[in-house]
Amino acid sequence: MSDATETESRKLLQRLRDAMAEDSAGQARLDKITHLIADSTGSEVCSIYLFRDSETLELCATEGLNAEAVHQTRMKLGEGLVGRVARYGRVINTADAPSAKGFRYMPETGEEIYSSFLGVPVQRLGEKQGVLVVQSKDAREYSADEVYALEVVAMVLAEMTELGAFVGEGAALAAPHQNPALIRATTAQEGAAEGHVWLHEPRVVVTNPIAEDPHAELVRLREAVDELRVSVDQMLAGASGGDAEQVQVLEAYRMFANSKGWLRRMEEDISRGLSAEAAVEKEQSQARARMNMATDAYLRERLHDLDDLSNRLLRILTGQGQNTGADMPSDPILIARNIGPAELLDYGRSLKGIVLEEGSVGSHAAIVARALAIPLVVHAGGITTDALNGNHIMVDGDQGIVHLRPDDTVVTAFRDKIAMQAKAQERYASIREKPATTKCGKTISLQMNAGLMADLPSLEGSGAEGVGLFRTELQFLVRNQMPKRSELSALYARVLDAAHGKRVVFRTLDIGSDKVLPYMKPNDEPNPALGWRAIRVGLDKRGVMRMQLQALIRAAAGRPLTIMFPFVAQYEEYRQARAEMEKVMERERKLGHVLPEKVEIGAMLETPSLAFAPDKFYEEVDFLSIGGNDLKQFFFAADRENERVRKRYDSLNVSFLTFLEGIVKRCEASGTSLSFCGEDAGRPVEAICLAAMGLRALSMRPASIGPVKNILRSVDLDGLRRVIEEGKLRGDQSVRPAVMNYLRSNS
Ligand code: PEP
Ligand code: MG
Repeated sequence: MSDATETESRKLLQRLRDAMAEDSAGQARLDKITHLIADSTGSEVCSIYLFRDSETLELCATEGLNAEAVHQTRMKLGEGLVGRVARYGRVINTADAPSAKGFRYMPETGEEIYSSFLGVPVQRLGEKQGVLVVQSKDAREYSADEVYALEVVAMVLAEMTELGAFVGEGAALAAPHQNPALIRATTAQEGAAEGHVWLHEPRVVVTNPIAEDPHAELVRLREAVDELRVSVDQMLAGASGGDAEQVQVLEAYRMFANSKGWLRRMEEDISRGLSAEAAVEKEQSQARARMNMATDAYLRERLHDLDDLSNRLLRILTGQGQNTGADMPSDPILIARNIGPAELLDYGRSLKGIVLEEGSVGSHAAIVARALAIPLVVHAGGITTDALNGNHIMVDGDQGIVHLRPDDTVVTAFRDKIAMQAKAQERYASIREKPATTKCGKTISLQMNAGLMADLPSLEGSGAEGVGLFRTELQFLVRNQMPKRSELSALYARVLDAAHGKRVVFRTLDIGSDKVLPYMKPNDEPNPALGWRAIRVGLDKRGVMRMQLQALIRAAAGRPLTIMFPFVAQYEEYRQARAEMEKVMERERKLGHVLPEKVEIGAMLETPSLAFAPDKFYEEVDFLSIGGNDLKQFFFAADRENERVRKRYDSLNVSFLTFLEGIVKRCEASGTSLSFCGEDAGRPVEAICLAAMGLRALSMRPASIGPVKNILRSVDLDGLRRVIEEGKLRGDQSVRPAVMNYLRSNS
């Protein structure tokens, strides 16, 4: 790049800045800018197209095309050359526009006489804002240098748009981040919530995209990069020997932080007249655009690392830390790209809802959100870019939909839905003390799933008979080191205190698969769900298992104790675990600790193999609980974490119901007590079908107890059973349609 072009570029940016400084309206600024760009690039035409809504681009200003076309000419995303630049976020540079792929003739603009076309995307941090176009009559391709210069201008335009510089009356532009947006996401925890946005990581605002003194900016950039490198080295030194994945990410950070290409590109941008911050953001925007297009998971991860690193650099440059001084709203809905379980627990129940741009249904954060009963949606594309602190937001955790800055009709409909749910809650409260006895006279025991101390107050309020599943792994997941026996024992004792004599089923540590402890060496397993997890880890690492069993015995301090081993796939595993418990009890007795008055030792049935275990197992085990989430994934060979296949198989599939019925029969024959504690137990229609198949104890999240009890009290299980049997005979794949029909005709 020659010094002359650098100077030209800087001159243009300075003129743009002067234009922005003038006290004129948004439209006047846009008009002036197109004039300046056309003039400075020697093009006959310069046009700016901006998004009117997420699908439509509008010609907002032009120098050279027919003035009447401004605010009239519109195109859909992907339509014509302009629409294609926007859709793919890529430059189109052609000497012969009418022959270029995708060209669409817009007669009102008078553009047919211009042969060459250069369009560059106007985008900021992955958010598409519009397209900047220059056109000329002579058939020539713009040089690489000219393309680059226009990209720098587009970057400045993007910053100005973000700052609301082109906002105006009438047909002009609305300020950014003001339009309502509907984002389709994925449900991870049901429930509806209304509140205001609280960004977990506030956005860095760049207010000075254009700099006067490139030399000073270069010095600022280099100093900031040096600081960044030092901090990455320090983080690496702190992490080495720890979690291999974290070390890998930090090594990628170091590689980028030392990348000459990255620094060189930013330096070139500064030479063109951008400020250091704008140069960093320009690189970041391009990385985000690539990230959105990348299909390769590894590449996406690395682009993600680069994005994080750019954020760190921006924070160093702007001095804007995490804490912006903003006050958390009283009804915060947390917005984050991703969040760890410990950070989420820090917010605790103060949050009304959580929306994650990434995340996954089975992530630790989802487990915590579920334990806290906070509505959570994940995979909410673009939310961290679009949402601003304080924006009004509604989260529909049932449908997996987010309404950002909703308009009045949406607000009314959503509030109606919340009101209906509140009414239903009142109805549930009125039956809280009543048993879940069906019309045909069968009583189902309803219990709750828990995993945090904070869950225990729900035991009273929800009407649960006890805790059918206490997931103990949460205390292990949210710490940076293995919890001590004394800590665990104190916590379990508090759980038993809070239960006031109601039965609590403590499930021993269920880690592995998706639940990886931060302080345990991760295993690189090709198939973690089928790998070294739960009881398999417990039996191989006896020390951890013993420590937990001791903590439970000490916590019980003479009270009855119920323990359940997760993921038992064969009789021998149960036998060994039970023998370990007996050994630990004997040791505790010798040490002088009071033993529990009564001990029940059960197993979770989460693999089909256990349904076919020898009779002796069924006779020996004190109780069984079906972990439907895992059992279903293994029954259908469909990963519970994989969105594509997860929903493919209905829980009311006749094969699955028949399989469950077989387990019920075996338990009846051996007199083994049986419950069901997967998510399906908390879904009303699924719950009544489980009851119809013979299950008499269901454990679910506390909020589900009311709805499930309500429907159970209104249903005739014999009638429902007949409907299911008829469906089977007919060869239905799932009995859901038949069951829904039955419920409708009997309501
Ligand atoms: C299950 O698998 O159904 C279960 C209750 O355990 P988790 O969801 O914790 O794996
Ligand atoms: Mg499970």
